[in-house]
Amino acid sequence: MTSENKQVAMDQLVSLCKRRGFIYQSSDIYGGVQSVYDYGPLGVELKQNLRDAWWRAMVREHDEIVGLDAGILMHPQVWVTSGHVGTFSDPLVECLNCHRRFRADELAEMEAGRPEEQGCPVCGTKGKFTEPRQFNLMFKTFMGPLDDDSAVAYLRPETAQGAYVNFKNVLDSSRVKVPFGIAQVGKAFRNEITPGNFIFRTREFEQMEMQYFVEPGTDEEWFETWKERRRAWLAEIGLRDERVRIHEHAEDKLAHYAKRAIDFEYSFPFGWNELEGVHNRTDFDLSRHQEASGKKLEYVDAPTNSRFVPFVIETAIGLNRLLLAVLSDAYHEEEVEGETRVVLRLKPSLAPTSAAVFPLVKKDGMPEMAESIVADLRPSLSVFYDAGGSIGRRYRRQDETGTPFCVTVDGQSMEDGTVTVRNRDSLSQDRVSADALRGVLQERLHGPLGE
Ligand code: ATP
Repeated sequence: MTSENKQVAMDQLVSLCKRRGFIYQSSDIYGGVQSVYDYGPLGVELKQNLRDAWWRAMVREHDEIVGLDAGILMHPQVWVTSGHVGTFSDPLVECLNCHRRFRADELAEMEAGRPEEQGCPVCGTKGKFTEPRQFNLMFKTFMGPLDDDSAVAYLRPETAQGAYVNFKNVLDSSRVKVPFGIAQVGKAFRNEITPGNFIFRTREFEQMEMQYFVEPGTDEEWFETWKERRRAWLAEIGLRDERVRIHEHAEDKLAHYAKRAIDFEYSFPFGWNELEGVHNRTDFDLSRHQEASGKKLEYVDAPTNSRFVPFVIETAIGLNRLLLAVLSDAYHEEEVEGETRVVLRLKPSLAPTSAAVFPLVKKDGMPEMAESIVADLRPSLSVFYDAGGSIGRRYRRQDETGTPFCVTVDGQSMEDGTVTVRNRDSLSQDRVSADALRGVLQERLHGPLGE
């Protein structure tokens, strides 16, 4: 068996996602809606497993981090205070020939020339762009039965603000002490000028963010700690080290709230790009909300009675972007006995299906035994039963969707109660007693897939 470790092409990944039910274009039957995607049966399982892995690492494994699920719609003043109404915008230019719109900063990066020499990426016309104007990325809507200016509300462009406006609620109700964190997973919306690269940049996406409240003066140390923890987590979920790097933001490129920021960049099929950010947001948000709401958002340190507005270290990753990174990392093509095998080498515990169970043939009691194995495994594992087609085809299908183990009931099973367990990566098979199968699979699911 020879295995190709090379980067997957984007169109191969998109086609696999559609063919196998991971991701579909939204509203497909009407021609699709640009930059919105729907997650199919396997996509939704993978997304759930990634979300769970993040939640476990960021909330369950910490005494001092608690969860929150704030509303998507918030008081409109939140976004004025946070600075998003005033400054959450990108510079927009329009090509005067084909009228397509672009982000001026992205155009400048693409063609490091003078603006008058820049060509339109769509029609190629040189130097014919409008002057850049600031375009606010927040989606506006109306709350209540009036659709006038007094009823304007925004779909949140980040989940973080939910944690800031609930800072006092959490403090008063949960016995947390600084340093502590509030973690949240939820949808965010940005009216991106140039969405694209499949699910990398979309207008509706899911964020997994954690705000860690610390004493001023300890913020730089906590920044380093979270940077290292997040790097370790990206490796733990299986992303290859050589495809993850850190980009430090230059001071003049920092967001309006930040004192320091780094991105974990991933080597996506279309190049290096941001996957996760770690930001030192200082006391910017809490201080501004304190001022605008008139409510004290201070922390009183019990032994010393000192008061301060905490600084915030934020870790922010997009769930959809993470899913894209995980899929690109897992995609492998291999030559097996003269045929190309596509295999997703997902970390076993993340795979949408943990085990597939097959009767070798549809007779001699094999389907019945396979069905009873499925019933035994189902409460604790995600299992899939498949009785149709050649066994080779059934294996390949599971390889393409990253199922780590295939269990086959064959003639010998009927005699001695054992089944074969096939390993997705090594293709090796061993026999395991059906009675012991649940324990064996659970152990292998959390161990190295290796052997
Ligand atoms: P970018 O520079 O790519 O626009 P950003 O720096 O504005 O991203 P943050 O505001 O730090 O991003 O958001 C945190 C994370 O949310 C990002 O690292 C990314 O994973 C995810 N994210 C942000 N915008 C989008 C989007 N339009 N589509 C999908 N994920 C996104």
